[in-house]
Amino acid sequence: MSYHSIVMVKQVPDTANISGQVMKPDGTVNRSKLPTIFNPEDKVALELALQFRDRFGGTVRVMTMGPLKASDLLRECLYMGADEAFLISDRKFAGADTLATSYVLAEALRKLGNYDIIFAGRQAIDGDTAQVGPQTAEKLGLPQITYAEAILKAEGSTITVKRKVDNGFEVLEGTLPLLITVVKDAATPRPFRAKRVMAYKNAHTLLELEKMTEGNSLLYVDQLKEEYVSKGLFIPTLTADDLDVDLNRCGLGGSPTKVHKIESVVLGGSAHETIPATKDGMYALIDKLMEDHIFG
Ligand SMILES: Cc1cc2nc3c(=O)[nH]c(=O)nc-3n(C[C@H](O)[C@H](O)[C@H](O)COP(=O)(O)OP(=O)(O)OC[C@H]3O[C@@H](n4cnc5c(N)ncnc54)[C@H](O)[C@@H]3O)c2cc1C
Repeated sequence: MSYHSIVMVKQVPDTANISGQVMKPDGTVNRSKLPTIFNPEDKVALELALQFRDRFGGTVRVMTMGPLKASDLLRECLYMGADEAFLISDRKFAGADTLATSYVLAEALRKLGNYDIIFAGRQAIDGDTAQVGPQTAEKLGLPQITYAEAILKAEGSTITVKRKVDNGFEVLEGTLPLLITVVKDAATPRPFRAKRVMAYKNAHTLLELEKMTEGNSLLYVDQLKEEYVSKGLFIPTLTADDLDVDLNRCGLGGSPTKVHKIESVVLGGSAHETIPATKDGMYALIDKLMEDHIFG
C-alpha cells in the first residue's frame, strides 16, 4: 500500500541572528526586517515524509501559510524532493496566533484532501508554542502523535510510531489518517538535489508571475500561468476566497492572543562569592543563607 502525506512547513525568522527592533507596535513580528530560514523541525518532518515515501511509495505535498516570500521555502521543499507545493496566502490571514493559524491550515487541508498522514514540526522557533500541529489535528477530528522520533511500521491503515518522552520513548499505534509532529533528532534532512534545483528554481506562484509581468506589456499573466502549469512549475496559492473561511476566525482579528511586548533577556553575572568545598565552607554558606532568610 502507498501513502499520501502533506507536510506543514513554516518560514521563520532566523532567531539566532536577531538584531534591532523587530516587533511591530501591534505585538506581531516585522518579518520583513529579519533573515528567514526553513523552520528546522519542519525540514526534519519533510525528510521523515520523504523517507516514508521512499519505503512505501505514494506522494509528499507541502503547504505553508505565509507571505509571498514564503515561496522560497516551498521551492526548497521541491529541491529536497516534495512532489507538490501550496502557498496559503492572503492579507486577511496576517497576524494570526496559533488558533487562527491552525484554523486556516485545517481548512486548507480539507480543501487539498486525499491524505493519510499530515506531518508537522514539533514547534516553530519563532512562536515556540508547539500548538499548531495538535490544534490542526483537533480541528480536523484526527488522531495525533506528537514528538515522533521514527515511524517504525506501516501496515494498511495502522502505523507504529516511536515517540520521545522524558528519559525514554513510547511506541504507539495510530489509525490513519492521522497527524504527527516531529522532533529534531528524527532524521537528518537530505541536501538539495542539484537536478531538482535546476528544475524547480523557476517554480513560481501566481503573485510572483504577476510581479514578473509588471511593467512588461508583452507578458500576460494568464499566458504565463498556462506555460508554468504545463511545465509543472506552477505553485498554486490558496486565498481566503478559495478556502471559504469564516473571516472572523482569521488573521489578527481572529486571534485572541496579543503579544504586548517582547524583550531579549540577558542574564548577567553580578557580585559573587566563592565558597571553598570544605566543611567550614559549607557551614559558612548555611549561616549566610539563614542570615539572608533564604533558609530557616
Ligand atoms: C514572541 C512571540 C510570542 C508568541 N506567543 C504566542 C502565544 O502565546 N500564543 C499564540 O497563539 N501565538 C503566539 N505567537 C504567534 C505565533 O508565532 C503564530 O501564531 C504562529 O503563526 C504559530 O505559532 P508557532 O510559531 O508557535 O507555531 P508552532 O505551534 O510552534 O508550530 C508547530 C508546527 O506547526 C506548523 N506550522 C506553524 N505555523 C505554520 C504556518 N504558518 N504554515 C504551515 N505550517 C505551520 C509547522 O509544522 C510547525 O513546526 C507568538 C509569536 C511571537 C513572535
